[in-house]
Order: sequence, then structure tokens, then C-alpha cells
Amino acid sequence: MERQRLRIQIQGIVQGVGFRPFVYREAIALGLVGFVRNGSDGVTIEAQGPKERLALFLQNLQSKTPPQALIQKLSTSSAPSQEEEHFTIIESQRAGVRPSLPADLAICQECHEEIQTPSERRFRYPFTNCTNCGPRYTIVTGLPYDRPLTSLRDFVLCEACRKEYQDPRDRRFHAQPVACPACGPSLSLLSPKGEALATKEEALSQAIEALQKGSIVALQGLGGFQLLVDATNEEAVQRLRQRKRREEKPFAILVSSLLEARSLCLTTPEEEALLSSPEAPIVLMQKRTEGEIAFSVAPQNPFLGVMLAYTPLHVLVSQGAKRPLVCTSGNLSDEPMCITTEEALITLASIADLFLVHNRPIVRPVDDSVARVLSSRTMLLRRARGFAPKPIQLPVSSEAPSVLALGGFLKGTITLTMGDQAIVSQHLGDLDSASGASLLRRTVEDFLSFFEATPAVVAGDLHPDYTSTRLAEALSERFSARLIRVQHHHAHLAACAAEHHLVGDAVGFAWDGAGLGSDGTLWGGETLLYQGARFTRLAHLRTFPLPGGEKAIREPRRSALGLLFEAFGDKSIELLGSLFSRSEQTALLSMLQRGVQCPQTSSVGRLFDAVSALLGVRPQRGFEGQAAMMLEQIVDPTEEGSYPISIEGNELDWRPLLEALLQDKQKTSVSRCAARFHNALLEAAVALAKKLGLPKIILSGGCFQNAFLTQKLVRRLQEEGFQVFQPERLPPNDGGLSLGQAMVALLSLP
Ligand code: ZN
Ligand code: ZN
Ligand code: FE
Repeated sequence: MERQRLRIQIQGIVQGVGFRPFVYREAIALGLVGFVRNGSDGVTIEAQGPKERLALFLQNLQSKTPPQALIQKLSTSSAPSQEEEHFTIIESQRAGVRPSLPADLAICQECHEEIQTPSERRFRYPFTNCTNCGPRYTIVTGLPYDRPLTSLRDFVLCEACRKEYQDPRDRRFHAQPVACPACGPSLSLLSPKGEALATKEEALSQAIEALQKGSIVALQGLGGFQLLVDATNEEAVQRLRQRKRREEKPFAILVSSLLEARSLCLTTPEEEALLSSPEAPIVLMQKRTEGEIAFSVAPQNPFLGVMLAYTPLHVLVSQGAKRPLVCTSGNLSDEPMCITTEEALITLASIADLFLVHNRPIVRPVDDSVARVLSSRTMLLRRARGFAPKPIQLPVSSEAPSVLALGGFLKGTITLTMGDQAIVSQHLGDLDSASGASLLRRTVEDFLSFFEATPAVVAGDLHPDYTSTRLAEALSERFSARLIRVQHHHAHLAACAAEHHLVGDAVGFAWDGAGLGSDGTLWGGETLLYQGARFTRLAHLRTFPLPGGEKAIREPRRSALGLLFEAFGDKSIELLGSLFSRSEQTALLSMLQRGVQCPQTSSVGRLFDAVSALLGVRPQRGFEGQAAMMLEQIVDPTEEGSYPISIEGNELDWRPLLEALLQDKQKTSVSRCAARFHNALLEAAVALAKKLGLPKIILSGGCFQNAFLTQKLVRRLQEEGFQVFQPERLPPNDGGLSLGQAMVALLSLP
């Protein structure tokens, strides 16, 4: 038999995912000799044996790849034969230029069974994991990803764990966070004053009992503290809302099984696959009306966000409680989550009755991801646990200089590029609080030290007052790096183009709440010619004034007033009815007449708010985006009619729409009015796309989180022969801005 030695180079997600033991097992099974090792740029294998077996080996590497691994590139070359008797796994060397940082993985099937098997030594052990599952990004302190550089560093492996860790045939071979009741982290139960009440199994069972009685438990989870409460107990859920000062924003639900998820929501096969994926996000699904969930969990909302228990700790709590639990970030309003017990005892003492904590330090806050399924396509609404910080391949040279991009203001993220790879951080929340700003800074330092990167370019938004913009300026000075300011909607489109490797011209619709435009007004209903580094504003929504500026984000009625004032001047107040008190009316009208504190906007998001208020769907106050969400939720999908929007030059004029809507609402149901409004917008987009005549269309910006609008618009554009690009690996909202900024910066370089 002809013997050969092959050198195999593999790139992709191949570290921290059980790839080397997999290679080892395959090689042993085929009687090959040689080695496998983590290299600077992936995994290197040398394998020697009969030609046919080597061919089979190559085949198996690609067809039997472990679930978490992803081979992006595999190349082979022949190597000189060696005198060897074994196949070995060579220990990691210091990782080289482009190491990868693994994402956290939801508990795997085997570990799930193990913790429920009384004969196993990890029976009911909340920190069970293996190479196929467990914490990664939330415990890693440096690279390469090895136990001494994780927050398990101080837990010395017991004999039994060490054996598993060192045995290439074991599921826990080189599972860095490996632990057991004898040597690993453990639970404690604390009072809000920090007094120790119980430990280990006793802590767990007392916490579960308290949950069953309606108490609020702060749980130190995987990426931070969460607040849990019985989701079937209306009184308890209301108590959580009051204490957390969160009025209406829906809570997510934690369940222990798919079966339980099915009892709460009308699940589709795609949604179930997403729920039980290793990323295990919160999935927004159609709520069953007959479900047992308390009203206050998601008031007046046809959807429910559900996630499957994704760590052994969540599995044990959720199974023990025997009911769905509210599981919401342990924070104040939109601030970052607490990660240490000390922080939690300060911040959450007035909210939680008990604290179930552990001694495995959380290195950085990582929130639960949120997703929904649209026509069997996954749309991320918040990219965090499970997804971040998986690299995104960019359509640029692998020699490209490193760019650091700081993103926007709401739903903050940062992006660091190294060559053709972009690492987008987890969702950092809104950056208007001091703690949000400090998290942004920490994340920057985190990324720079992890990857030992020195950015050649720093990118930020045009808005001068954003925390992120100011930090971008400071960092560009610190690194003597070029500063590139990227217009908000240009960045939205570039993010989408980047992930799809779209090059060349495209027409982009960037519809969102607001971002600063190049002309100083607030943009948000933009049609841009996207050309990579450059853009041209081809068309936009007709502008209207926003009385009070920023205040309008949480008060849809202000958008309504601005819209009416633009169309009807002083007569607008009469049309508003009872949305404002007398004194408010006088004050706002005078602001509008004088044009003081009334920035002009072309935002589609604010148009949604205005219409929502005019139809009486959500007139007063609420959380950002709520009015638009509620308008979407009441749409009658069978309604085909629409209101007129005229396209004059470069302007989408909504005034005909407004007149038609004001007349229509007297005689037509709100659901049909809402549908006609949605149809008007999407038909205007189709008409504009046809007029512009370019074959490629990008849709991005927060408005495209709207399922009805997006699905129908995509279908209509495709019917007309357009090729449509939408964000998939990042959310369409401002969570994608940092990637877009980085992309524009890279394309702007000479
Ligand atoms: Zn596992
Ligand atoms: Zn152990
Ligand atoms: Fe935006």
C-alpha cells in the first residue's frame, strides 16, 4: 500500500470547540500517525498512512465536524514522511496573529442528561460543562483560550476531573471550564443584606421554594445577574414591575423544555430549532391566548419572548420551579447588568428578595440574545450571548489595517477588525448612563488587550455629543490613529453590505428612529446610493419638526403634532384632540411657531410614532419603539389598500397619506388603517426602487424589525426582480452600526 504524509491547514471556528480531540479520534480510528496542533491561524494537522485512508480522513474531517466547529478553509500539501508510531495532540503554543475568542454555548444534550442521572458524580451540579457546551466568552480573561486564562484559574482540578481533561477520548478533553462538585464552583443563597442563608443544594432548593411562593430571586447566571419570578403569578410579576420601575416593556420567559415552550406559544419548526440551538436566544413568538402566563408579563402584546434553560443552573432552577419563570436582566432600566455579587447587592437590593449566587467570576456582562423568525429566516434583535464575539468575515484584504469602531448611542456595540475579520462586541445597552459609558470603555480595553491590537483607524458617528463619538476622538488621539466619522444611515447600509460581501453600487433604504444627517437634520427615512466608502442621498421622507427633539422618542404624540403642524400650520392643534392638555398645547405650538427646540426630521420611525398616536394606538408615553411595535401588532394582514405617498423629486411626501388617514380613521377600523399605512410606505419604497432602477437593494435600520413591513416589502421587491439584502448576522437596528462604521472606514483607506 502506498503511504503518504499530508499537511492539512484548517481555518474557521476550530478552537475551544472540541476540534482537536475530534481530529485525534478520526486519525486513531483510521490507524494514521502524525499530530494535530492549534496554530497561529487555525489548526494544523500532519497525518501519515495509506493513501485511501488519508482520503477518507479528509472526507471525515469535513463531513463529521463537531457541532460547534466551522471549517471555513481547508488546504492540503504533501509533507516528508516521518518515523512515528502514534497520533498525538500537541499542546497549544502561544496563539499567533489572529486568535479567535469563543462564544458561550448552551448546555448540550449529554450534560443535560448527566445532571439528571443520580448515579453520575455531576448529578444536579449547576456548573457542569464539556467541550461541546458551557461558558466561554463570559469566563475568558486572555488568549489563548486555556484554563489559566479563565475565571476558573483558581479552581484546582480534582483527580477525576484531571483525568477527563487529559484524556483525548473523553468528552471533557481540554474543556477549559471543566468542574465537578468536588473541585468546582458552588452556589450560595444570600439575603438582600448579604447574609449567607444556605449553600450548594440547600441554596438551590430554598431559592426554588421561594420562587414558587412568589418571591423575586436575583440569579447570578452566565453573563450577569438576572431577576426571576413566577411568570404565572400576576401579583408577583406586578411587584417585579413596580420594584424595577419598568412599566410595560415585555419580560422574557425561561422554560425548561420545548414542550413547555409549546404550551405558551404557537411555535414553528424554525423557532424550535432556534430555541434549542447552542446560541439559545430569547425567541419572540406568537403567544397562545390560553397560556398560563400572567397578564403583566407582556401586556397587550401578541408576542412572547421565550428561551430554553441554557445552563445547568437554569435547567435545575427551571425544572425545580415546575413553571415558566420571568427571566429579565438584573439592572436598572437600560443600564448594563450587574456581574459581581457586590454590585448586585447594591443595585438590586430593593428589587430582589433573595440572591442565588456563585463563586465562578463573570468576566464581562453578556446579556441574553433576542431573535425572531421571519419567513423562516432568523432576524437578530439583540446580538449577545451565544453569537458574540464570533468573527464576521469582511470583503477586504487579509492585510487590511486594524479598525476600531465605536457605534452609536442606543443598543451600543463596538467592532474591532483585524485583516479581513471583524469582531463585533455583545450588545452593550444604551450608552446614556454613566455605567453604560464605562462599559463601553471597558469593552474597548478588553478587545484591544485580547487581540493585542493597535488600531490604525478609529471610526465613530457624526453626532458630536454621543459618548461613543467622544471616546472615538480620544482613542484616535491616544493611538495617533486616523479618525473617520461615518454618517449613521450610511453605516446601517454598510453593515448589511459587509456581512453579505456586497460590492458595487446598491440602493439602500435606511429607515429608523433617527441619526444625525450630513446636513444637520435628523435623518431616518433615507434612500441612499450605497457605494462602499461613499454614498449619495437620493431621496428621503419629507421633513417635519419634532417639538422637544429627543423627548419625542418616548412621546409619540409629539411626532403627531410635528407632522400636523408641518401639514396644517396653526390649525394642527384642533386635529390633535385630547393628546395634550391646554397648557401643553400652547407651549408646544409656540415652540413650533418660533422653531425653537424643534429639529427637522425625515425619520420613518417618527412617522410611525405619529400615526400610532393619531390612530389612538399609543398616544402618550412608552419605551422607545413601542408605538411602532403596537401599530405593527394591530395590522390587519388581509387589507390590501394603501394611502397615497407622492414622490416629488427627491422627496417622499406623506401629506397626501396624512389627509387620507385623517378621513379614513373616522370610518375604518384601526387595524385596517394601520395596514393601509404600512402598505403605503412599502409601495412607496417599491415605486422609488423602480424609478431608480438599480438591481440591488439593501434594507436596514430599526424600522425593518417590523415583520409585516419587511416581509411584504421584500416579497414585493423580489416580485419586481430586485435582489434584496437584509441584515442577518447582526440586528437591523443600531446594534449593527459599529460594523458598518468599520466597513466604511476600511473602504475609505487609500
Ligand atoms: Zn456538554
Ligand atoms: Zn472535579
Ligand atoms: Fe439607526
